[in-house]
Amino acid sequence: MRSEFVANVSHELKTPLTTIKGFVETLKEGALNDPEKGKKFLDIIQKHTERLEYLVNDLLTLSAIENKGELLNLENISVLSVIEPVINLFKDRLENKHLSLILNIPENIPSLNIDRIKIEQVFLNLLDNAIKFTPSQGIISIGALVQDGFIRIDIKDTGMGIEEKYLPRLFERFYRVDKGRSSELGGTGLGLSIVKHIVQMHGGRVAVESDVGKGSTFSIFLPLKSS
Ligand code: ADP
Repeated sequence: MRSEFVANVSHELKTPLTTIKGFVETLKEGALNDPEKGKKFLDIIQKHTERLEYLVNDLLTLSAIENKGELLNLENISVLSVIEPVINLFKDRLENKHLSLILNIPENIPSLNIDRIKIEQVFLNLLDNAIKFTPSQGIISIGALVQDGFIRIDIKDTGMGIEEKYLPRLFERFYRVDKGRSSELGGTGLGLSIVKHIVQMHGGRVAVESDVGKGSTFSIFLPLKSS
């Protein structure tokens, strides 16, 4: 498991590093003197540097949640109090992409014993995906309900959807349906594995349903009574 992970990480690091190295060499060999080309190559270098940054950030998050010594910092809080600040972080991106966000969390829904920072990370990753994979004018809705001893939170989008055959592997580390497209959108393939890990740490589970061309619903189930 561990060596496979190291192999995957190395592979993910290799593409941006090779690209950056290649374009720096090309610049040094003369492209620097051509302002148009120079600017284009610097843009490419910037994009791949950002990729490295996203990757390292996700790896640090993953390592923090996997660190056995790090316990959950449980607080009795409402789901809404965790979701609202996350939504605020995405306000600009939602507006720029002309996406509507519908929040449907009943006021009387019980509060939960959860780690605020970690559950924020869950919503951060799920909303980030919903925004990335939903074309302009789409709708993202967040709903919550009590179901069989759990609070179920659904994040539903009207995006591109995912073919059924890909669903079983979706929460695996580094798994991406369309690697090129994910990279283009700044994805690392780690977001959903982080979501699953955090939810499981809380004694919960994750689920996904999707229709190609219509949209996807990612659901997280968090236990009402923490174990
Ligand atoms: P990434 O960094 O690529 O977003 P994730 O682990 O968050 O990695 O997601 C894995 C893959 O699952 C994505 O590359 C994409 O193919 C698919 N995916 C995740 N969320 C959605 C969504 N809301 N709509 C369509 N596809 C999605």
